[in-house]
This record gives sequence, structure tokens and C-alpha cells, in this order.
Amino acid sequence: MSTAPVHRPVLRFAPSPTGLLHVGNARTALYNALLARREGGTFILRYDDTDTARSTRAFAEAIAQDLAWLGITPDRVERQSERLALYDAAAARLKALGRLYPAYETEEELETRRLSRRRRGLPPVYDRAALKLTAEDRARLEAEGRRPHWRFRLEGRPVAWDDLVRGRQSIDTAGLSDPVLVRADGSYLYTFTSVVDDIDMGVSHVIRGEDHVTNTAVQIEIIEALGGAVPVFGHHNLLTLPSGEGLSKRLGHLSLRALREEGQEALAVAALALFTGTSLAVEPAADLDALAARIDLAAISRAPARFDPADLAALTAGTLHLLPYPAVEARLAALGIGGGEAFWLAVRGNLATLKDAALWWRVVEGPVAPVIAPEDADFLAQAAALLPPLPWTGEVYADWLAALKPVSGRKGRALFHPLRAALTGAESGPELKALLPLIGRERAHARLNGAAA
Ligand code: GLU
Repeated sequence: MSTAPVHRPVLRFAPSPTGLLHVGNARTALYNALLARREGGTFILRYDDTDTARSTRAFAEAIAQDLAWLGITPDRVERQSERLALYDAAAARLKALGRLYPAYETEEELETRRLSRRRRGLPPVYDRAALKLTAEDRARLEAEGRRPHWRFRLEGRPVAWDDLVRGRQSIDTAGLSDPVLVRADGSYLYTFTSVVDDIDMGVSHVIRGEDHVTNTAVQIEIIEALGGAVPVFGHHNLLTLPSGEGLSKRLGHLSLRALREEGQEALAVAALALFTGTSLAVEPAADLDALAARIDLAAISRAPARFDPADLAALTAGTLHLLPYPAVEARLAALGIGGGEAFWLAVRGNLATLKDAALWWRVVEGPVAPVIAPEDADFLAQAAALLPPLPWTGEVYADWLAALKPVSGRKGRALFHPLRAALTGAESGPELKALLPLIGRERAHARLNGAAA
């Protein structure tokens, strides 16, 4: 295998638009997109939509939206269904080279042969009977109305590559069936179209799930037969449900859509999708570049990795605590939340999900029903009277407390708790130091005197 030094890598994510993306798909997408971004390369979103029976336009759109939610914007978008001429040409070349041959067996015939090979203790691989057919045999079969499917003739040799995750890999293709690349109806299988596209698009690195390891040996043979440059491969472990069950797009497991609707932060989902099942810590980050900087394919473990949605809640909160105001400005506005950066910095540390910010915005804007114990009423009236005069600039809260402490004789909880309960109507929450200027003098004055404001 020759791998020329790559200066501007080209990576791709190639989902089939047959369902909603789940976190396992996000793992593959993120590794490819973020490595391209980190290394100044190109990231291609390529829909594997040659299976027209199962692919839909709506799923393709949902995939693009879910990637956008994660913060991934592809540099290029391609649809395999629009590239059939390229596959026709590549198939013609393989036929001319004698590497793609017609076979006529029905599924039932193949099944019978597999069973009989198994009974004789032979591996259930295709016996290549079709290679022995003469031109007359083929003409007779076609006259019977049979249409051929087309198989790639493997060389049957050890195929090796240096996997970015798994290290040196070697698979002997002598133990595999010649793969079908073209169905009897003329449609292509992804094993083939992926390779043709990877060559055509100059894909330099293929990062994908380890369920594709065996395909890789076959695909390297196809790439070499077509005279293409073999990309660098990396096969990451697969994410499973906490039960150990594999994720399924078809069954809608852990879809990005559902996690978003739950209020999970995209960056939290990304951190968990990237770093679960690696030797790296799963930590919140304030942006994708911070996550990209930590990616290390060699740190991915070989065992399947359990993705536990229960871990997401803490990671979502941890992410919110880090996010700067510009990262959330538009989303706060969409929730009708004002208060600008000062409000955000005051409350972000108290949020479980972003929409909780609306509760604190209500506390600022009012009306808030102050909570006042009878024994605190005089103290709070005193506190209202001592509120610093307008305009409020500088350390309003500190100045206020400095005036209040000596006259009230209170300190610690006896001082702070009644103030918080009256000003916010709540037992706990963001620092009063940050909230008070947002609540403002007028509302604070009213609440301290027991009026809803
Ligand atoms: N459509 C294939 C999949 O989602 C693409 C595999 C590949 O990346 O080559 O598994």
C-alpha cells in the first residue's frame, strides 16, 4: 500500500439516508469533520443513497440539520444517486480487466450451496461456479430470463494496512466470497460506489466504524484494481446502548433529534460521542475546536463503548457553564430572554438545560412573589431603605451589604437568606451580587417590602 504524504486531508462522512442519525453515527461524523477542520482539510458529506427503496430526501435533510445542530457544516455535499455515470464507467473498466464477472445464481441456489459447503466442513464462501460458465451457458441462462448480478474477482491474498486506531491489520481475502458489486437490476452496492467516490474525490482518510474492517480488505483490492490511491483507514469501536445492545438507525436508538428535543447541548453530545470508549477524559468544552484539539485516534479502545445518556445531563450542565454569551445569544433571544451578557454570566452556572434560563429571566423581570418570614420583615424593610440610590454603577451589592451589616447586626445565613428569598422568591440560585443589578432598584425595593414585582 502506498500512502503519499497528505498535506490537505480530505475526509468524508457517508451516511445512507434511511433513518435519523444516532450518536454512533455522530461519532463517525465528528471524527471526520473535526479532523478535517483541525488539519485544514476538506470535509465532504456524501449521501449513500443508491438504495432507492430505503433512502428518502426527508432523511437526507434531517441528517444535514442534525449535523448543523452539532456545528458541522460540510465543505461539499454529494449524492451518490446523481453520480451513476461514474459508477457505470468504473464497472466497465473492471469488466474489461476481467475483475467483474456475471453470475446468475438465485438467492435460494446460493443458500443451498452455502448449506452444503457447511455440511462438508467448508467455509460458506461463494464457489465461483459462474467463472466456469461458457458464452453458450450464459446465453442459455439469459434466454431463460435470468439477469446477471456482477461479482468482483478477489485476488485471494493477504491485504494489509496500518489502521490509525487498530494498528497493523491483515485480512486474507482468500477466505472471503467474491463480493457482489452490481445487483441484477443494475443498481450498485455501497462497497463499490464508496470506493469509486473515494478515488474520484481524493479522499485521503477514511474514519469509520469497525463493522467495516472486513470491507476494507475488499475495498483495497478494488481501489488497486482501479489504479486509485489507497486512503489511510481508521476503524473506531462502536457505541452501544447501556445494555450493550448495538445502536440502530432503523429503530431510532439515541437519535440526535431526540437528544436535542430533551434539551441536551450539542457540544455535550459531541464530547460524549467522541470520547466515550477512549482513554481520554469525557469533559465539557466551550467549542468544537476545543474538542477537535483533543482527538487522538490512537486513544480509542478496541472494545465496544457503552454510551450512557445518564452521563449527558451532567455534561450538558457542564457545557452551559462554560459557554460564552455569543455562543447562546441567538438561542436566548429565541426564548424571549433579554438581559444580555450580564444576565448570561449570572445564570449559566445554575442551568441544567438552556431553557432553564427562562426561569431566571422571570426572576429578573418579575413578577416575583417575595418569600418573607414574619421575623425578617423589619430587617427587609430596613434593607429596602438602604438600597443605594440610582444610578447603579460599580459594586452595588457590596456597598449595600456594607451599609446593611452594621445597622442590622446580621451576618452569614441570617443576612443572606432572607434577602435572597425576598428578592428572588427562591431558596437558592445565581449569586445575588450578579442578580441585583439586573433586578434593578425599583423591583428590589418593592420585593423587599413584600410586594410582588
Ligand atoms: N454508508 C456506509 C455506512 O454508513 C458508509 C461506510 C463508509 O464510510 O465507507 O456504513
